[in-house]
Amino acid sequence: MTEKHTVHCDCNAIEVSMTGNPKVHAYCHCEDCRELLQVPYHSVLAWDADRVEVHRGLEDIVEFQHPSKKMKRIFCKHCGDVLYNTNAMGWKLVSQLMFRKCNDDKLPESYQADAHFFYNRRIIDIDDQLPKR
Ligand SMILES: [Zn+2]
Ligand SMILES: [Zn+2]
Repeated sequence: MTEKHTVHCDCNAIEVSMTGNPKVHAYCHCEDCRELLQVPYHSVLAWDADRVEVHRGLEDIVEFQHPSKKMKRIFCKHCGDVLYNTNAMGWKLVSQLMFRKCNDDKLPESYQADAHFFYNRRIIDIDDQLPKR
């Protein structure tokens, strides 16, 4: 009944599964996401921590705790691909880009971004119809 999806890193050493629909599916424009991931904004798919599991390659994972933010980058020690990151609430956040890359470039309906967060902190303007908070 509950849907399960997986993502894997570029070299395929690590596979991570996510159970159920993401609790948050949105674009985040905050500077924390930008600096942690070096993206203009983060295409967030967020689950509670226990919904995201490492299926394969646990020994190949590197967890980087940001020195000043309550955030971590979880990446592959071989290819450097970021599987997910964590935020101050302890959620696990997979990017929509990562999900698409591993799922035939498709994003399920319940994964589509439904809002922009921290839009007032943006560095890039987005001209779409989604609510901006
Ligand atoms: Zn890898
Ligand atoms: Zn953010």
